[in-house]
Amino acid sequence: MEILVRDIINKAQNTLEAAGIADSQVDSWLLAEFVFGITRAKYYANMQMTVDGKSAEKYNELVNQRAGHIPLQYLVGTQEFMGLTFKVNENVLIPRQDTELLVENVADCLGNGERTVLDMCTGSGCIAVSIDRLSKDSKVTAVDISEKALEVAQENNRFNNANVTFIQSDLFTNVTGRYDIIVSNPPYIRTDEIPKLMEEVKSHEPVMALDGMEDGLYFYKKICNEASDYLNDNGKIFFEIGYDQGDDVSEILRQNRFCNIEVLKDLSGNDRVVIARKE
Ligand code: GLN
Repeated sequence: MEILVRDIINKAQNTLEAAGIADSQVDSWLLAEFVFGITRAKYYANMQMTVDGKSAEKYNELVNQRAGHIPLQYLVGTQEFMGLTFKVNENVLIPRQDTELLVENVADCLGNGERTVLDMCTGSGCIAVSIDRLSKDSKVTAVDISEKALEVAQENNRFNNANVTFIQSDLFTNVTGRYDIIVSNPPYIRTDEIPKLMEEVKSHEPVMALDGMEDGLYFYKKICNEASDYLNDNGKIFFEIGYDQGDDVSEILRQNRFCNIEVLKDLSGNDRVVIARKE
């Protein structure tokens, strides 16, 4: 049985809209591109385009999952970040565009030298893999506590022809040696804020990748406490932070004797990255 693409996409848009999905039109098209392999341009060139019943069924199944607020990226299995494609599943946080600011600043600082970088709480590996690709001569090591996240990160490392070394570790427990740069986008949402997040995030992204405990600062404190022992002299630390954490994270760094503390804003004008140097 052949079904008109026009009909099936219209129906999907209505389903997603009724379910309160903000980008119902975009998402219905992205799922159509994923399942049918068509582009919008091709569709407009032939609006009588049809698909077979089996593909339509697969599409409708994904639309229903999206209507249940499963993030689009988990349905299609990928997210673009720093111009690279990263595989994602429910064991890893979906890479965010805001995090690109963190990677750009680390890459700028690395230049072309042979430097060593440790990515703490790597998740999908998006930070470690893109730094490795951007800074050819650097040696990047990535840490996560979650074995399932590390499986995804390793797949992303292969998929993007990067050369990151991975360590399963609860923060620094299994880490040895010293690095020129430590970078981290740790979990930083206050526990009591989590129920207020979008359904997509709070019910589908891994809570362990979001939860920064009572004050949201748990991981910054833990990492800053030990970071000096794993940094070379003049080594630098780069954190992604929540929009309201600039002062608190700067203070934590100061208390741990870091200097040259800088807070950078993202494209929306919110504090997003903190950089500091080991004294
Ligand atoms: N480092 C990963 C990212 O930026 C994971 C972050 C996390 O799980 N908190 O996407």
